[in-house]
Amino acid sequence: MTDDLDITKPACGAHATLIVTLTPAGTATNVARSRVVLHCAMPVGHKGPHLDPEHAEQWEAPEGAAPTLLRHEED
Ligand SMILES: [Zn+2]
Repeated sequence: MTDDLDITKPACGAHATLIVTLTPAGTATNVARSRVVLHCAMPVGHKGPHLDPEHAEQWEAPEGAAPTLLRHEED
């Protein structure tokens, strides 16, 4: 095989939890709408923020940390 894709390179694998919130009409309260676990797909040792291309999210965190991110969506 001459497949040149570097798919065997280990991914960073950092985790983060993304919570999408929204504010129902007539209230001032944020409600959690969905919860997604993000996985960084960048190579191990990459520079800059972690990136989950599947969910189009990036985040910064110290090594080994698994932060919780909040994203607010308007209806
Ligand atoms: Zn990463």
